[in-house]
Amino acid sequence: MTPLVDIGANLTHASFGGDLAEVLERARGAGVGTIVVTGTTLEESRAAARLAERHEQLYATAGVHPHHARKCDARTIPALRELAAHPRVVALGECGLDYNRNYSTHPDQERWFTAQLELGIELGKPLFLHSRDAHPRFAEILHHHKPAKAVAHCFTGEQAELHAYLKLGLYVGITGWICDERRGRRLVELVREIPADRLLIETDAPYLTPRDMRPQPKSRRNEPAFLPQVLRAVARARERPVEEVAAQTARNARALFGLPQAA
Ligand SMILES: [Zn+2]
Repeated sequence: MTPLVDIGANLTHASFGGDLAEVLERARGAGVGTIVVTGTTLEESRAAARLAERHEQLYATAGVHPHHARKCDARTIPALRELAAHPRVVALGECGLDYNRNYSTHPDQERWFTAQLELGIELGKPLFLHSRDAHPRFAEILHHHKPAKAVAHCFTGEQAELHAYLKLGLYVGITGWICDERRGRRLVELVREIPADRLLIETDAPYLTPRDMRPQPKSRRNEPAFLPQVLRAVARARERPVEEVAAQTARNARALFGLPQAA
């Protein structure tokens, strides 16, 4: 099968501190060839870039998650600009809006989301975007600051939101949310409406362990080796062969992030 690309895994998370080598080994064994490590703060983004220097199968993003927008200051954008020049940093983000948890105020979130969008546009870098309960504001901001290439990662929204994103030219990232027989039911229907050339898959590890994994991992921790579970759920929902969805999503990830052709 085509080597898969996990476009979003939080491998700098403390839960991977003890056994990252094994986690990467299991990912390779499961057919996951490339993993893009998500940067969520300046420190985590630096750590993600360092991981990507050390492991051939890893790339990184550099950005500040909306949860942490309140900690941004005048040094944030210059620091991200520097990180963006790192050869293993393939996108800016994750950045966006999260009106679900509201760990940062809306004005702070919007200000730093916009600043990161502007930096991405200026540098011609793709954007890795997060939006939770923030439609239509999120789409409105993107409308005024439209990056050439971006992904709405971990899409869990409604139909109007999906079509607003598609109209903005975004790729759409699907996580193990689709494997949840209760809250993922809507996503099973909506995933059919995503054009094949915009579809991406991701684990968002260590979060969102696919609920239909048997057996469930003892630690409950999600990891990139579980990406095929998401792939199969997406293929089933779209009524397409698994291999076709594997090849298409890997091709899309390479196009979005400018990754080299898989060996
Ligand atoms: Zn996110």
